[in-house]
Amino acid sequence: MATITLRNIRKEYGSNVAIENMDLDIRDGEFVTLVGPSGCGKSTTIEMIAGLTKPTSGTIEIGDRDVTNLPPKDRGIAMVFQNIALFPHKDVYDNISFGLQLRKFEKEEMDRRVEEAADTVQLTGMLDRMPTEMSGGQRQRVAIARAIVREPDVFLMDEPLANLDAELRVHMRTQLQRLHNKLDTTIVYVTHDQAQAMTMSNRVAVLDGGTLKQIDPPLECYHEPANRFVAGFIGSPAMNFMTGEITTEGFSSESGSVDVEFDPSEIGVSPGQAVTLGVRPEHVIPAENATGEVTAPVETYTDVTEPMGDEIFVYLVTSRGATVDMEDPSASGQILMSVGPETPLETDEALSVVFDKTSLHLFDNQTENALVHGLAEPSRVDAATSAQTGADAEAESDD
Ligand code: ADP
Repeated sequence: MATITLRNIRKEYGSNVAIENMDLDIRDGEFVTLVGPSGCGKSTTIEMIAGLTKPTSGTIEIGDRDVTNLPPKDRGIAMVFQNIALFPHKDVYDNISFGLQLRKFEKEEMDRRVEEAADTVQLTGMLDRMPTEMSGGQRQRVAIARAIVREPDVFLMDEPLANLDAELRVHMRTQLQRLHNKLDTTIVYVTHDQAQAMTMSNRVAVLDGGTLKQIDPPLECYHEPANRFVAGFIGSPAMNFMTGEITTEGFSSESGSVDVEFDPSEIGVSPGQAVTLGVRPEHVIPAENATGEVTAPVETYTDVTEPMGDEIFVYLVTSRGATVDMEDPSASGQILMSVGPETPLETDEALSVVFDKTSLHLFDNQTENALVHGLAEPSRVDAATSAQTGADAEAESDD
């Protein structure tokens, strides 16, 4: 088991800055997922931890050792990649034990480790199978067992489930959680798939453009996103955003169709401040069903409905027949609502909706940082709370 500490890491590829001044603290035994859009620097980060890529500047520690200049083999890590490179002419036993054979392990110790690893990933009884006789999921489990037998301090996994079909991916998600519970080893996991990030991790590190935007438990990223990027990236379907400004009475949208009443001084914002209101689809409610603290009604028209079985996604527009800009649907007045399957809705109908005030978010347009989560019971987000200081505070409270 080991902590992983990245300090002031910068990585340049020629003139391209892939990672900019990243600080990252991963705790002993933690499962941390690096998530973000393609090109945000996830693979570069995990490759630097592995020692496959050297940072341009900054230091990397695993446990209490500075490993910045150590080769991968001396870092106490094992990696599992997206492409499962098994030896096609070797059976499962030889594939799993290959690294141990190279290091001339005693047969008895090798047998013990292979059997234990095969048992952990439920491949018991399959040690004499050839890879060609196995399913994609079984082959991926061989690759994981090959990493386990090395008894590493840290597992590094880069999109290990990306090549599996959807059903198997969901199955392997639960398998990986069980593996983590059993081994209690630090795991750093890279994915662009937020469903994997949300379901498996102790904490999610959200990256964008080579910078760390937030590192927090999955539900904290969902309910209290530190900035607009995280708010838009975490959650499917995505949060609705409405640009506007603070008035003496609260928030007024640029389009004029959405007003939310609150006392600006209570949440530390000033009239004239340019802000964006964020509301998740499940917090948009038909006015006639509304209970609790809600906003004034917003007049909309139902545009498109998508019945998903357990819920219905309803695309609303604030002016009838509006053309929705695919690049920025919120700007053209689209509001996405998620309602229960029993809600009867036709398309092209007038519908008055309200927002659950306790679940609204405000973001500053200049910094893009969150100003407040929940407008009914103001809980001001301290402007000084950056992604990493939030993580540090949590680390301290764990001590
Ligand atoms: P992700 O894994 O999030 O998709 P990467 O870490 O692969 O992102 O890439 C981050 C940035 O660094 C991208 O702009 C990518 O084009 C660039 N990059 C990655 N690897 C190399 C490389 N070997 N040479 C040049 N640029 C690279």
